Amino acid sequence: MTNLTENSTVEQLIEADKKHFIHPTTVPRTFLEEGPKIIFSEGEGVRVKDIHGKSYIDGVSMLWNVNLGFGQKELADAAHEQLTKLAYCSSFYGYSNELAVRLSEKIASLAPGDLNAVFFTSGGSESNETAFKFARFYWDLKGQSSKKNIISLKRGYHGATISTGSATGIVGFHNFSGSKDSDIIHAMPHLVNAEKGDKNDPDYKHSIRHIIDTKGADQIAAVIMEPIQGAGGVHVPPEGYLQAVKQLCEDNNILFIADEVICGFGRTGKMFGVDNWDVVPDIMCVAKGITSGYAQLGAVLLTQEVRDTLVSYDNILGHGFTYSGHPTACAVGLKTLEFIEKNNVLDNVNKMNRELQKGFDYLVEHHPHVAKTRAVGLLAGFELMQDRDSNTPFAQSIRAARHIVDHSFDNGLILRAADFEEQVNIVAVAPPLIVNKVEIEEMISIIDDALTSFEKTL
Ligand code: PMP
Repeated sequence: MTNLTENSTVEQLIEADKKHFIHPTTVPRTFLEEGPKIIFSEGEGVRVKDIHGKSYIDGVSMLWNVNLGFGQKELADAAHEQLTKLAYCSSFYGYSNELAVRLSEKIASLAPGDLNAVFFTSGGSESNETAFKFARFYWDLKGQSSKKNIISLKRGYHGATISTGSATGIVGFHNFSGSKDSDIIHAMPHLVNAEKGDKNDPDYKHSIRHIIDTKGADQIAAVIMEPIQGAGGVHVPPEGYLQAVKQLCEDNNILFIADEVICGFGRTGKMFGVDNWDVVPDIMCVAKGITSGYAQLGAVLLTQEVRDTLVSYDNILGHGFTYSGHPTACAVGLKTLEFIEKNNVLDNVNKMNRELQKGFDYLVEHHPHVAKTRAVGLLAGFELMQDRDSNTPFAQSIRAARHIVDHSFDNGLILRAADFEEQVNIVAVAPPLIVNKVEIEEMISIIDDALTSFEKTL
């Protein structure tokens, strides 16, 4: 017997939410006390409304995925048409469908280099998990089965399964579960000189190169990284870093996996994050923006060489998900990519990047604690520091990023704090790629107010 109906009150909904719905990445005890922070009900463009009718600008595209904003009828129509025609079919046992084939060809045409083969998943974690399995299996097939370890970066986020959660380098995500993939090793991010070969770099001991030097390349299957780290706090690598790591991998017979789950499909102003540095990975994982969040879809792209090795296997490839190649998700994916091209979305991202940079400059000029602003396309953020000139962080007790995010939320702007590490106060800003100048100005104005309010608390 259920009690809820379409006519139930908000209070009844909240009570049922507390009782029956376990929320991901949420503090359970707080949730039980306070209930949901917001109950979303509708969206249009960059704006969403809650169940009480209050409107918000979605300044982070939900989870960096609703890249084309809400209410895009073309995407809804594509889903509706396919749901009516053939909602679902399997891709196991050699079964196929036109939408999955067309989408795989389309993705291959957009991807750099010869990343021509596509394995479909239902999201980012499954994509990265698949990439790890494929990388390890690739070396098995080459007769080098000792190559099992995966190197990932601290501050990186790669998913929530046992292996991808282990690869995630954000401590908060490890506290929760004791289960670990013991063949994952973390390196410090963005040590460009060490990765280029400078063993005198003070941080060489924490570099990918050091792990390879000490552990042995014959133990390492792959290196995975986000071209720009997202959840860890929007960290842009120094110039030359991605190229140096790719070279290091090539020199040592190690596969380079790019986690493009956030960066992919235009977020950084190029089709893929790696395109900013002209790097072609051996394996590339995508999700999120591939359907703008309108359907659950991810994919793993393989170079010709990796693909040829995997398909040389003369037995069943014992890996796959019920929703691999889901025709409705693929129909939405195709329409999303078509929309991006037809509407020159990348041009808009680059234009709006300049507006956002202008807004950030204004904030730096008017607020003494705003530091280290960065924006590549519409993947952006800034830090809050006690003293930006001497690089002094706020004391742990001062939840600066949290204050900005909460105050902005109350005033109708959804942002995201990256404050997992002690004394780190980063605010992430990543609006839908279809955002316009007026909306960016509105966002900056709300952040401006939040900063003023924060300064009054000091
Ligand atoms: N990789 C990156 C870079 C991500 O940001 C995320 C999700 N935030 C994932 C992987 C995991 O994707 P999903 O939540 O779809 O499994």
